[in-house]
Amino acid sequence: MDRLTPEHRSWVMSRIGGKDTKPELFVRRLIHAEGYRFRLHRKSLPGSPDLVFPGRKKAIFVHGCFWHQHGCRISKVPKTRTAYWTEKFERNRARDEKNRLELVCLGWQVFVVWECETRHDQQLKHRILEFLTC
Ligand SMILES: [Zn+2]
Repeated sequence: MDRLTPEHRSWVMSRIGGKDTKPELFVRRLIHAEGYRFRLHRKSLPGSPDLVFPGRKKAIFVHGCFWHQHGCRISKVPKTRTAYWTEKFERNRARDEKNRLELVCLGWQVFVVWECETRHDQQLKHRILEFLTC
């Protein structure tokens, strides 16, 4: 961990615990303000989605760009221990995809919010509402 750049270290620190991250709280507040009610971290579903709307059979994941390798500017693979990170990220991505497919097979609709998208809250709100109402 001491080899991480300060930026990556702060990402790592912000991810300890894995849930109730800042982007996730942001998304929760946004959806709640629109009058939707949801369950959190449903362990009984593949990947225990961050927000679950049982009646609508819809699930939302809020993915950290770094851990889930969004491919955007803030998800760059660290320059040190590259092999280690690459392997770790591959596993994360494979797990994400498997969970998504399993949910779809069970008849759920899945929406992924990327951490960097929470910086454009109006656009994000639009897309989330579209997902929830369609
Ligand atoms: Zn991103």
